Amino acid sequence: MPRIVLLNPGPVNVTDRVRKALLLPDLCHREKEFSMLMETIRKKLLKAFDIEKEYTSALVSGSGTAALEMAVSSSLSPGRSMLVIQNGVYGERISKICEVYQFRQHTIQLNWGEPPSLENIENELKQNPDIEVVALVHHETTTGLLNPLEEVGKLARRYEKVFLVDCISSLAGDSIDFRSCPIDIAVGTANKCIQAFPGVSFVLFRKKELKRLSEIPERTLYLNLTRYHKAQEAGGILFTPAIPAYYALDVALDELIEETVTGRIKRYAKAAQLLRTGFREIGLEFLIPENWQSNCLTSLHLPRDLNYEKLHDELKTKGFVIYAGQGNLSENIFRVANMGDITHKEFERFLKTLESILL
Ligand SMILES: *Cc1c(COP(=O)(O)O)cnc(C)c1O
Repeated sequence: MPRIVLLNPGPVNVTDRVRKALLLPDLCHREKEFSMLMETIRKKLLKAFDIEKEYTSALVSGSGTAALEMAVSSSLSPGRSMLVIQNGVYGERISKICEVYQFRQHTIQLNWGEPPSLENIENELKQNPDIEVVALVHHETTTGLLNPLEEVGKLARRYEKVFLVDCISSLAGDSIDFRSCPIDIAVGTANKCIQAFPGVSFVLFRKKELKRLSEIPERTLYLNLTRYHKAQEAGGILFTPAIPAYYALDVALDELIEETVTGRIKRYAKAAQLLRTGFREIGLEFLIPENWQSNCLTSLHLPRDLNYEKLHDELKTKGFVIYAGQGNLSENIFRVANMGDITHKEFERFLKTLESILL
């Protein structure tokens, strides 16, 4: 029986090497072995993306949203506001976090899958000097749209704003040039393109942000970025971490460094290309124009008369898990991600299987 291939946008299929790491010895997180593990992971993260000089990191146990909430809740100074660009579930999630913390926010609300207009963003920045942080989702996993990271980043920089990016579903899957793109705070997770297990996520941020962040009052006990960073710099950890997930992340980062981030992005781009050529041949239609699509996920219109559940269940019996649309899109689209350790052969077998179901 072939394994189940996960075509959902995380958690992803991992290599056996990463899976085996889950079984490393039982460990107390207050022992020096865990300090060292944490230090190594933090170093490897920066090394993989070649940002050791200007950036630092903080790890947190929890899914990507834990790190996102940590970054958002810890990065806005009192009396200032956040500009949130929304064109999908995850942009809206950033706004929700702002609401929970009763932040002042300005929002650019777009239809899901609609790219933002730079002119609108610039107008917001011009009209609202109270804005301190500009928040953007790089890869909007809701639709597979890749937002214009560099352009928005450059605007944020020109207006001297802090640029906070949810890179959870793009880090190591779509290209991010940390040199030319002024990202100040980047949020990521272990279980998407990093190819490890759910349970640990992280914030990468510029060292020059440290002072500003440390002056922001603590608003949460469990998710304060400055406190995590301070503890981890000293080799300590505030709360009991998901230790096996850390073990696996360490090995997954070795694999990422071996493959290189550029190599992985190329592999994903190739996979997406293979899939999209196949989708076109089957006669499926894309939700997002091809020049706006990420490397990691394709949203497809459900053919008329085809029920998502039925398609999903039939594919699952053949060993493939696809992903439903969210919200209003749930009736109209399905999603196919190509993150994780999936072979060319498996993608080809998926296309054949999909075709046999649709014809
Ligand atoms: C997966 C994802 C998240 C986090 O979702 P979790 O369920 O908390 O892992 C956040 N933003 C984006 C863009 C994502 O794709």
